[in-house]
Amino acid sequence: MKTIGLIGGMSWESSAVYYATINRKIKEILGGYHCAKSVMVTVDFAEIQDLQFKEDWRSLDQMMIGAAKQLEAAGAGLIVLCTNTMHLCSPAIIENISVPFLHIAQATGEKIAETRLKKVALMGTRFTMEKDFYKSFLFNQFGIEVIIPDDNERTLIHNTIYGELVHGIVKNESREEFRKIIDHLEKRGAEGVILGCTEIPLLISQNDSPIPVFETTIIHAEKAVEWALK
Ligand code: GLU
Repeated sequence: MKTIGLIGGMSWESSAVYYATINRKIKEILGGYHCAKSVMVTVDFAEIQDLQFKEDWRSLDQMMIGAAKQLEAAGAGLIVLCTNTMHLCSPAIIENISVPFLHIAQATGEKIAETRLKKVALMGTRFTMEKDFYKSFLFNQFGIEVIIPDDNERTLIHNTIYGELVHGIVKNESREEFRKIIDHLEKRGAEGVILGCTEIPLLISQNDSPIPVFETTIIHAEKAVEWALK
């Protein structure tokens, strides 16, 4: 079994889900007393959020490279970045490490490809929804067309993530708003919806959606286990 290197803290609410998922999955596969071999570097999300809102992606690149190198030095056999948004820094990370990097959109794209859906919606931070890195990855690697919510819907999702979910606050009113957005996305032709922020599954599950949901947190963590065991 390879040691899984996790870059966590973005936010720790979802890092905890990664940690539980990789251990549960290893136990499910190997049984007995098994759990995952892992190391986690936790960054301070206050520093990250500040740089994100200043759009200082260069500094964020450097911080992510630093965290990945710490994991490599600690014996990680693969690197898992426990957030969708910060995959904006994935090219910089990949360039600076020598162990495999498991891209969250790779894991998610493989999962969607299994279902043969061709057009899906993406919910996440404004960075994930509006910048090109995530949508183009899915289109170029898997031919999946990605649509995003309307501007006012994007604002609501983004504000809910940073104002509530990363603080572990889960409100019924927000769940209702997200459900309405998903219904609207379905009307616009989405056959499925990517919960493309690792905290959204704290709020929304398959029960809240008439179309299949893709929980990037679980999909990414389970793929990490697959890579660790192969
Ligand atoms: N965890 C979130 C994501 O998956 C948002 C927090 C962050 O900006 O990293 O995008």
